[in-house]
Amino acid sequence: MNKFEQLGLNESLLLAIKDLGFENPSEVQEKAIPVLLEQNTDLVALAQTGTGKTAAFGFPLIQKINVEDRSTQALILSPTRELCLQITNEIKLYSKYIKGLNTVAVYGGASITDQARDIRRGAQVIVATPGRMQDMINRGLVNIKNISICILDEADEMLNMGFYDDIVSILSDTPDDKNTWLFSATMPAEVARIAKKFMKDPAEVTVGHKNSGSKTVSHEFYLVNARDRYEALKRLADSNPDIFSVVFCRTKRDTQSVAEKLIEDGYSAAALHGDLSQAQRDGVMKSFRGRQIQMLVATDVAARGIDVENITHVVNYQLPDEIETYNHRSGRTGRAGKTGTSIVIITKSELRKISSIERIIQQKFQEKTIPSGIEICEIQLLHLANKIKDTEIDHEIDNYLPAINEVLDGLTKEELIKKMVSVEFNRFIAYYKKNRDLSGSNSGERSERSTSPREFKSGDDVRYFINIGSRDDFDWMQLKDFIKETLDLGRDDVFKVDVKEGFSFFNTDGEHMTKVMETLNGFDMNGRRINVEISKNEGGGGSRNSPRRDHNGRGGRSDRGSGGGGGFRGRSDSGSRDSSGGGRNFTKRDSSAPASERKRTSSSDEAPRRERKSSDGESKGFFEKAKRSRRSE
Ligand code: ADP
Ligand code: MG
Repeated sequence: MNKFEQLGLNESLLLAIKDLGFENPSEVQEKAIPVLLEQNTDLVALAQTGTGKTAAFGFPLIQKINVEDRSTQALILSPTRELCLQITNEIKLYSKYIKGLNTVAVYGGASITDQARDIRRGAQVIVATPGRMQDMINRGLVNIKNISICILDEADEMLNMGFYDDIVSILSDTPDDKNTWLFSATMPAEVARIAKKFMKDPAEVTVGHKNSGSKTVSHEFYLVNARDRYEALKRLADSNPDIFSVVFCRTKRDTQSVAEKLIEDGYSAAALHGDLSQAQRDGVMKSFRGRQIQMLVATDVAARGIDVENITHVVNYQLPDEIETYNHRSGRTGRAGKTGTSIVIITKSELRKISSIERIIQQKFQEKTIPSGIEICEIQLLHLANKIKDTEIDHEIDNYLPAINEVLDGLTKEELIKKMVSVEFNRFIAYYKKNRDLSGSNSGERSERSTSPREFKSGDDVRYFINIGSRDDFDWMQLKDFIKETLDLGRDDVFKVDVKEGFSFFNTDGEHMTKVMETLNGFDMNGRRINVEISKNEGGGGSRNSPRRDHNGRGGRSDRGSGGGGGFRGRSDSGSRDSSGGGRNFTKRDSSAPASERKRTSSSDEAPRRERKSSDGESKGFFEKAKRSRRSE
């Protein structure tokens, strides 16, 4: 007997649960379901986003519906259209083996008469936004006078969004003897007020600490100057090539303009906010779920409660006005046991908000610096190398091998590798070479200090690259400990540790440089040879210099056309993603370079026209065809 069976759920539900692949109930499900099945009671359940609240009310709700009766028996109120649709969809999945159970979603922006017609056909369950529900009641299109269950989902959010009056009015249109089940992540005063006003001796279920954020999410902030916000966002994206994120802005206008800039700069981004038509919003969400969009730029309202799996980063492009909202944002990532990162891009004047948020989430932020151009280049370079390694060969290429061999004849393997990597890499380095480092508080001071990159003195920060990372089971604390212990350094001698998948960065004071290089380089870690390189001199404008690179600046760029697929921001499995159809309006998947760079170079002496001509004119055959067909999607 599995744990769902012990909760008292019937056979049809258990079958559907099996199909869903849920093995065990989540905590809120385990606590709420038996209570709701056994008693006719009101309930207040407090649980974070991503804890499975939909099923916690959905399963008992379905079991309590009388399918022989086609009248409306239950009403679920939820804050947004997207959530309404999500809940409706879930309820349909849960009730797939129950014939005759009809659920209708009711929300603004779609035809009210269509929705009314669907209800008249016999909907036992209505899932509605408060605004549209109120509208339907006013027009006499719906009858909720006999419902036995009313569910308030994401109650705190509904009230945050100003639905108090609507909710009060809707509830007073329902019978007194119904049961009200209230689900919320937090319990602000307004929610307590609703509970007090409309509920009788509610059973209480609380999961985890009140208000504490999901432990699977780590929180970081980046201090920048206000004018660098957008540039910082781009760098964060560039330094996380596989980013799949929601970027939150405060207003519809900012949301739209950030998304537009990103698209223009060649990122696969889209905006989601209330000014879009319904069809547009559906299109965006479909593309995002299908991962044709890597960065969804959204307002709080539009993105509330959205459940998309495997979001790697939540980016607070601007902090929300209400600090409480931060929780809802960061809850978009770290779901279903996965880990995620919530990033705040912040200016000095807002800095004090960080500690308020820390109090609410009961977790500490880690302060990070926006990666320098060189760091990004390094990350991208390794990402590219890994991508080359992991790319499956399409044997259609074989036909062209003789011709290709002829062209490349005489190059050594080493030269060939360097050139291949340079095809992509030169562009990146060219862009970032021209761009200063971003740092919030003291960029002026930093750029004035100019030690030559090779001379490190005591008092200089030295940044290192090391070829071990999260793949080797290190997080930043473990790596810091490992380095400290291996080198016998003190508590604060290793800092700014930044762990990526296959590699990491860290800093020490210049006085430890020799020790770091000599001891760590070649160090054998369980058969793995450690390699450390100096990444850049924190004190000395590393982005203007690339001491370790022998880039052949002029030659590489005209090769750009053949680079294909925007490898640098690398959609990891580009094949499958690129071939799917959705979202073509919003994505720009075949940008062969970060257009940030394209744009900039276009104003420089190297005219982009020339490149295009050279690639269009010269390259024929498979590569070019593949590129065209993708572009014409
Ligand atoms: P909440 O409403 O609390 O934010 P959801 O109900 O949206 O959370 O659930 C979050 C995710 O967890 C959904 O993808 C859902 O399918 C999944 N989920 C819910 N319950 C379980 C379970 N018992 N086992 C596995 N996954 C579950
Ligand atoms: Mg929910």
